[in-house]
Amino acid sequence: MIPYGRQDINEADLKAVEAVLKSDYLTQGPAVPAFEVAVAQWCGAAHAVAVNSATSALHIACMALGLGAGDLLWTVPNTFVASANCALYCGATVDFVDIDPVRYTMCPTALSEKLAAAAKAGRLPKVIVPVHLCGQSADMAAIGALARTYGVRVIEDASHAIGATYQGRPVGDCRHSDICVFSFHPVKIITTAEGGLATTQDPALARAMELARSHGITRDPSEMTQAPDGPWYYQQIALGYNYRMTEMQAALGLSQMDRLAAMVARRAELAARYDRLLAALPLTLPKQAADTASSWHLYVIQVDPARHRTLFEALRQAGIGVNLHYIPVHTQPYYRAMGFAPGMFPQAESYYARALSIPLYFGLTDAAQDQVVAALTRLL
Ligand SMILES: *Cc1c(COP(=O)(O)O)cnc(C)c1O
Repeated sequence: MIPYGRQDINEADLKAVEAVLKSDYLTQGPAVPAFEVAVAQWCGAAHAVAVNSATSALHIACMALGLGAGDLLWTVPNTFVASANCALYCGATVDFVDIDPVRYTMCPTALSEKLAAAAKAGRLPKVIVPVHLCGQSADMAAIGALARTYGVRVIEDASHAIGATYQGRPVGDCRHSDICVFSFHPVKIITTAEGGLATTQDPALARAMELARSHGITRDPSEMTQAPDGPWYYQQIALGYNYRMTEMQAALGLSQMDRLAAMVARRAELAARYDRLLAALPLTLPKQAADTASSWHLYVIQVDPARHRTLFEALRQAGIGVNLHYIPVHTQPYYRAMGFAPGMFPQAESYYARALSIPLYFGLTDAAQDQVVAALTRLL
């Protein structure tokens, strides 16, 4: 089976992880801060907070922005459930904004209309979470401008998009957001096995996320709310979790960062090759906005809904590990129980009825890609 995505691990990665295993620190040592500096520098962000998953990063980002009971978070329906679940962890309520039919990311027009109605009703969201689907940035200038107008905070879910650019600058520089979150799950662009990270330009948000990542405990006397008992003293000043990334994970991530540019370049080359080789088939190929350079986490084709399922099954049968990103979150049973129903977000639902993710990853050879193209050509 040719998978739709897979990690790339080389000798340097193995050496980096082995060195940590032979060192003094398996957790809370020098590798995590070094990885944070590398990602922050890549993105042009002042701060980076590494954690054990993007799901955790979304949670601590919501916590840092003060999301709580009675608050609202809006995201898009065609995302992984974690983009919405982070609100529920905080006791807040979720709603969705439909996607636009070009980038398949949060639609600024739909957002603008929904914000105007929400302002009238006195029910504005505290946080919105645009998702950079497949590695292509959402229209962040428009989304950021709307957020500023209405006093709404923005978390970018860039789980797909490390290495991508928007208006010529790296995704993660938070020019139009408060916080930007990345995932390092093995199918994503670079991996730490499990892992995630949040960037921000705001030192207070960074510190709040650091506290939330590790039990809300500080050893800094200036942050303590009562006098320390002695030099051994630590103080819990907030409620946090154990969301820490291990040293092995950070060392792997740091080693992978050395290849980020090469990894994104190869993905872009493979995507351009698909564009060429699939051009004559009855498919909709992924559209790219002029102001973005995707990191190409996914290559999603769209087919006639009438042949969607049979094509999916036939490709799996042919050893092509196709996948579907994403089942609209509002149609999940857990969300339907909150009152959501099919029909509420037609663009996301139409995308779901047509989308297929075909294999795309750094180690995909031209020959394997040709097999995917041949299977699609035969079946269509
Ligand atoms: C992968 C993913 C997540 C969750 O990432 P983890 O690191 O597995 O927690 C969140 N949002 C999106 C859009 C994703 O693709």
